[in-house]
Amino acid sequence: MDGSRTRPPLRIRIVGGSLGGLFAAALLRRDGHDVRIYERSAGGLDGRGAGLVSQRELFALLRAVECEHVARIGVVAFERIFLDRDGGVAERHETPQTQISWDTLYRAIRGKVTDDEYRLGRSVRAASQGAHGARLLFEDGGAEDADLVIGADGLGSVVREAVTGVPSPNSYAGYVAWRGLIAEEDLPPEAAILRDRFAFHMAPRSQALGYLVPGPGGEIAAGSRRYNWVWYRPVPTAALPATLTDGDGRFHPHSLGPGQVPAPVVATLKADARRLLPPPFAAVATAAAQPFVQAIFDYEAPVMAAGHIALLGDAAVVVRPHTAMGVAKAAGDALALRRHLAEAPTVTDALALYSHDRCAAGSAIAAYGRRLGASLE
Ligand SMILES: Cc1cc2nc3c(=O)[nH]c(=O)nc-3n(C[C@H](O)[C@H](O)[C@H](O)COP(=O)(O)OP(=O)(O)OC[C@H]3O[C@@H](n4cnc5c(N)ncnc54)[C@H](O)[C@@H]3O)c2cc1C
Repeated sequence: MDGSRTRPPLRIRIVGGSLGGLFAAALLRRDGHDVRIYERSAGGLDGRGAGLVSQRELFALLRAVECEHVARIGVVAFERIFLDRDGGVAERHETPQTQISWDTLYRAIRGKVTDDEYRLGRSVRAASQGAHGARLLFEDGGAEDADLVIGADGLGSVVREAVTGVPSPNSYAGYVAWRGLIAEEDLPPEAAILRDRFAFHMAPRSQALGYLVPGPGGEIAAGSRRYNWVWYRPVPTAALPATLTDGDGRFHPHSLGPGQVPAPVVATLKADARRLLPPPFAAVATAAAQPFVQAIFDYEAPVMAAGHIALLGDAAVVVRPHTAMGVAKAAGDALALRRHLAEAPTVTDALALYSHDRCAAGSAIAAYGRRLGASLE
């Protein structure tokens, strides 16, 4: 135990087992609390991430759970370049940046909780407040009471409404991110300039960018890494349902994963890339076997906690990916929640302080993301 709490341990139940939920569990169990995560994915999330930029809050969290080594190993982009339409370098900035592996981070923090504390394949339907705690209702008909429920269930959060008291949908920002991951060895020769650099192409209502990330197992040696490219493009609200409908005709509310985008849509994307992007970016976009798409949303909860329920990470505030701060924000939330639970006299006092503290932080990052994406709306 390394917290300063003197109250009896709390029974804490966390909805969502991605990084936000894991950060909270890994910290709070160190203070002696009885924690358990419910994650709806049956197979776990290992192998599904790419890369991320480590930031101050993430370093602090990794120190607190004794996983600092994770942030020391990454892939370095030694400079930023901005390409013009013909593929020439219009601008160059010496701002090196390191991408660490999402999967290595996930595995490291997952290793800080036991199998009993991390329950896969259990989907939560709703959360509700009680007189002295909170209750989770599961899709399988089960229910469980807790002293504290943490909603770390991302942008489709089912816990959100129990905190805000009203339906709290995300608002679509008017554009999507087409993405792809290519094994480094499959990078086409026309894309050689992109290797080891953080590259951008900015055009009216279009932003393309890309960088190397670690391999699927966290590999960082040259030749075993992956190239991650992103192309932000506007999609009118009326056309969004068609963009998020998979090859079997099923609509997905936020994104389509690799292999889910219908073949004719992939063909159109590649034709557009050839027509509109500088040759290096057109080459990576056309080389990608299974591009995927993520719609960009905004959401800021007016409060991040009420009674015995707290929101954390994307469930509380959805920030645009341009910020590269989603993971750091979730780490900051988890650290603040732990601190207030250790210091405040009651759970509800702790949550009130947490909400005040982190709403302001989330709001500032969300505003920064809206500025970065404003030209795409
Ligand atoms: C598979 C995956 C890969 C990612 N890869 C990257 C990356 O490479 N780089 C990067 O910067 N960011 C990545 N992200 C996003 C990043 O991890 C998040 O910004 C950060 O974790 C904060 O989000 P979160 O944990 O609050 O929510 P999310 O990461 O969105 O996680 C929410 C979790 O809750 C679970 N869940 C949702 N509803 C329910 C329910 N009703 N019952 C039970 N469980 C539920 C979901 O399955 C999910 O695991 C990835 C996220 C995921 C899920």
